[in-house]
Amino acid sequence: MRYKTVLFDGDNTLFDFDAAEAKAICRTMADRGLEPTPERAALYARINRALWDALYRGEVTRDFLVVERFRRLGAALGWSGDPAAWNRAYEAALGDCGDLIPGALAVLERLRPHCVIGLVTNGLKATQRRRLGNSSLTPYLDGVFISQELGVNKPEAAFFQTAMAALGADPAATVVVGDDLLSDIQGAVNAGLDSIWYAPKGGSSPLPTYQVRALEEIPALVLGEN
Ligand SMILES: [Mg+2]
Repeated sequence: MRYKTVLFDGDNTLFDFDAAEAKAICRTMADRGLEPTPERAALYARINRALWDALYRGEVTRDFLVVERFRRLGAALGWSGDPAAWNRAYEAALGDCGDLIPGALAVLERLRPHCVIGLVTNGLKATQRRRLGNSSLTPYLDGVFISQELGVNKPEAAFFQTAMAALGADPAATVVVGDDLLSDIQGAVNAGLDSIWYAPKGGSSPLPTYQVRALEEIPALVLGEN
């Protein structure tokens, strides 16, 4: 038994966020009379990603980010409505999509008898709570930690320390699992924790303790069976 507590990231680690985001952006574009094309969905994803990266660097606030992404998208598409209203509609649509990454549930089922499991996410409170309710994850989670509720974001060490304190976790027996080097893996490093980088597309980084391409590889690492 290598780890007793596992802190899973949500988006694109357990939740199929890319699929949910594409659905929600296309639906809200159509509602605004904008033709929902894959190119436009990809444009939104790039704008959103750049703003989240700026948030992780401490350059913008969350409140600014959520409206600014739709102001920029609207400007690029020649649309001049209210970006704050678009954001509210988008977050509601996103909350309806509880799609999971294939294999996520099987991993949690395998770990459940042996580990304390927490969800650690930088997503927005209302969206994440609603998506959790629309997914089948809840029975597997001992705690849900959302940055907007904690008042601190990944990758700050305080975020992970708060989650571990709530779960009664021993840092030496805790591992962070996530797809994002900037928030999840750097966060684990900041908090002095081991990490598993879920990188389905591959890549290389000196930061994580372990790296996997498939979620199915995670239980053996956590349980020390390899
Ligand atoms: Mg993620």
